[in-house]
Amino acid sequence: IVELDRAHLIHPVASWRSHEKAGVRLLQSGKGAWVTDALGRQLVDGFSGLWCVNAGYGHESIVEAATRQMRELPYATGYFGLGSEPAARLAAELAERTPGDLNHVYFTLGGSDAVDSAVRFIRYYFGAKGEPQRDQFISLEQGYHGSTTVGAGLTALPVFHNGFGLPFPWQHKIASHYPYRNRATSDAEIIAASVAALKAKVAEIGPDRVAAFFAEPIQGSGGVIVPPHGWMKAMRETCRDLGILFVADEVITGFGRTGPLLASSEDDIVPDLVTVAKGLTSGYAPMGAVFLTEHVYQTIADGAGASLVGHGFTYSAHPVSAAVGLEVLRLYEEGGLLENGRAMGVRLLDGLNGLRDHPLVGDVRGRGMLAAVEMVTDKEAKTPLPAVAEPGRRIFDRAWDNGLIIRAFAHGVLGFAPPLCCTEADIDAIVERTRMVLDLTLA
Ligand code: PMP
Repeated sequence: IVELDRAHLIHPVASWRSHEKAGVRLLQSGKGAWVTDALGRQLVDGFSGLWCVNAGYGHESIVEAATRQMRELPYATGYFGLGSEPAARLAAELAERTPGDLNHVYFTLGGSDAVDSAVRFIRYYFGAKGEPQRDQFISLEQGYHGSTTVGAGLTALPVFHNGFGLPFPWQHKIASHYPYRNRATSDAEIIAASVAALKAKVAEIGPDRVAAFFAEPIQGSGGVIVPPHGWMKAMRETCRDLGILFVADEVITGFGRTGPLLASSEDDIVPDLVTVAKGLTSGYAPMGAVFLTEHVYQTIADGAGASLVGHGFTYSAHPVSAAVGLEVLRLYEEGGLLENGRAMGVRLLDGLNGLRDHPLVGDVRGRGMLAAVEMVTDKEAKTPLPAVAEPGRRIFDRAWDNGLIIRAFAHGVLGFAPPLCCTEADIDAIVERTRMVLDLTLA
């Protein structure tokens, strides 16, 4: 199977050269927070796949919900105005739980196309308002918003720009809050600096040209960068003052990852739009979504509804994914997943904080079941681990060899996003094995 994979399967964001894919490993099965590889080795998945299998592996009730729906009705297309029960129900259940009046839901296949869809909707919105010149977008350095061209342009990681001249000229960046590496030291100063940077960027582009600001409540793929409390609220309010829309990209932070169903509600804000994916279906079926506030939705619907005909996917609001989403939502609440995730998140962060004495550990940060350990070679100077000597792949391999799956980001950051179903023993295994990885990296 490994030979077939190397010869024919192209992996995402990885080397395309088959000889460099010598390290392909096959996963065979999973239960709870644990996966078994094709050789029968058990590993604890400290990253929920790719921050998505929030409910853990092997959940029979999700499998049943999917197969029931496949048998009954696998497909219906909104293109012809056709609907399905699970899609309508899921939209309604989500609308009920999202903060404020984020009452309207557009289902996509994942996060990148949710971000692309949000950009389109924002353009429709300003078109409908008679302000079509508001076509410029701002996002953060270290931000990640997807791998399609529009999402990749909002993304600040250069590897996603290669070959396409991205970002597009209408996509702008401001500095990240990044507390560990910010020159400002107090939370208030960091927040004030971000607010000032956004205002300055809007002034520079032109006050009537900017449409929206995109931000992750916690920056994920940039290295799990946690802003100070109050940062989201300040940015949201600044957007309102500037007359631009605020989009929370909750593709990672949504669905219990940081504690509540959406991180926005923890920050006590109502974004104009929210993008989600991953935990929405817990990785059992592909699905993302855009939530729109009543005002944004009504403006588009009243002003330029007809142009929406130009946007949609064959698999928008897929009934099987929606049935999975409904069951996963039930597990978050009635199944106690959110509650368990909150308790285990405290244990995870306590455990990782216990690694601060390690010579390589410069910073430990996180919220809920989303955390990072930033490795440095000099704690005082905060010197990043040299990426050439210690590429993320080698650190990933070291963890794998010790029965642990975590993400190793290029600049020496270890990322953690365990399934919300973890037991105390699972969390302890993740922390203990991480110490082994640190020791081996030091050696
Ligand atoms: N936005 C954010 C914040 C993400 O983390 C991701 C994926 N890691 C995406 C968008 C893109 O989602 P997908 O990979 O499902 O297209």
